[in-house]
Amino acid sequence: MRILLATSELHPYSKTGGLADMVGALAKSLAAAGHQVGVVTPLYRPIWSRHQPRKMDWWMDLPVGAKRVYPEVWTLEPQPNLTVYFIHAPAYFDRDGVYGDATASYWDNGERFLVFSQAVVQLARHLPWKPEVVHVHDWQTGLVPLLIRHERSSVGWADAPRTILTIHNLAYQGVFPKSVYTLANLPPDYFHMGGAEFHGAVNFLKAAVVYADAITTVSPRYAREITTPEFGESLDGVIRSRKEVLTGILNGVDYDEWKTSENPYLPTSYGVDDLAGKAQIKAALQVEMGLPPRPDLPLFGTVGRLADQKGVDIALGALEEMLAGPTQFVSLGSGQKELQAALTALARRHPHKVGSRVSFDVGLSHRIEAACDFFLMPSRFEPCGLNQMYSLRYGTIPIVRRTGGLDDSVIDFRDDPARANGIKFESYSSRALVKAMRKAIALYAQPEWVGFYRRNGMTADFSWDRTRLAYEAVYRG
Ligand code: ADP
Repeated sequence: MRILLATSELHPYSKTGGLADMVGALAKSLAAAGHQVGVVTPLYRPIWSRHQPRKMDWWMDLPVGAKRVYPEVWTLEPQPNLTVYFIHAPAYFDRDGVYGDATASYWDNGERFLVFSQAVVQLARHLPWKPEVVHVHDWQTGLVPLLIRHERSSVGWADAPRTILTIHNLAYQGVFPKSVYTLANLPPDYFHMGGAEFHGAVNFLKAAVVYADAITTVSPRYAREITTPEFGESLDGVIRSRKEVLTGILNGVDYDEWKTSENPYLPTSYGVDDLAGKAQIKAALQVEMGLPPRPDLPLFGTVGRLADQKGVDIALGALEEMLAGPTQFVSLGSGQKELQAALTALARRHPHKVGSRVSFDVGLSHRIEAACDFFLMPSRFEPCGLNQMYSLRYGTIPIVRRTGGLDDSVIDFRDDPARANGIKFESYSSRALVKAMRKAIALYAQPEWVGFYRRNGMTADFSWDRTRLAYEAVYRG
């Protein structure tokens, strides 16, 4: 098949979260299976210093309200069958951040991703290899299915591609004033309650839910959850109306990157039959995070965006209680200021027990995954979650709330005693998390049980082949 993926972030060129990992790995897997694959993504400023894209002989001319914008297209071919198309529109993307800087989101994100979506449609229409499928991800590319549908009917585009939307997180919808819709120079036909309109504003994600030919989300359980008012973020009605084209497909893990042997980010290698290296990495991380190297203490860790979704509030509450006992905790994350400050303050109050880094550091994220005994993901909701799957492979027992992709990927003793590889809890409360962490500590006291859980986790298989086959089925329709 000929497939064009469109994404606002793409590993290894840009990343703020799991979206970048997922699209990077999906593209790799599809290309390796013999499909012709293109990925279109913005050319952000930091990409220039680390990669050498080549300029394509292509001048775009996009009408944006009364203005015209002329993006360039730059490309890279990281592997056979795979071309990355970078949209170089300096006024919008030649910035250090993807969605904003340290203090706030960029004020013009609506216009930025409208222009990006227009560029995606130009590529889809005029690439010589004629994509059969355009697969868009999240709100940033949410206008693409609408724009394709409009071009198909207004200018005649007989072989227009099939459009697929993947929802990575329904909590981010791209809602902007109506003036942003006006910039698209579309007729009013799509701006109504059954279309792109959302309480008088334009909602990019809703537009894609309405106009895409098929919709996927990143785990089977989240696919069910988003049809309910509790998780539907005010779009559950429109999602229910498209239920027959909605599928939940659990993300895969790129095991070429997330590996415990010959991993450039780890000081030593280890594996399921030789865990000595894991203990060394634990000792090294304790030093790196300014903690006393104590092999005997259970080390809990977490990595992630510091956002309400991630359950940082209940983690802080649980840690208040747990840190009274013999445990250590490390965290890496950036995001909401008050959560950053709370974690920094926790580390200051418990200098021998807590290490906290407020930054985005891929190397350290691998070391925390590898070094810890237990990995905390107490998310309020979690569409898929990747860190718990990385933890499993790294022999680090995940403690997760029973929601979304966390429930689909981690096996609790109560789910299946023979295959147990993690600890799950139900209610969104510090109390429930404390209970789960106490179970972890009881487990830690019994090395043969730790070994059993680790082996089950390290041998669980979330490789991309299964995920890719599921996407191929959706592409075929
Ligand atoms: P989400 O997409 O909601 O942020 P996921 O668990 O799906 O959550 O994916 C998060 C990805 O981002 C993982 O690869 C994780 O390691 C990475 N990540 C999150 N925060 C950081 C950070 N501060 N430093 C390095 N990597 C991070």
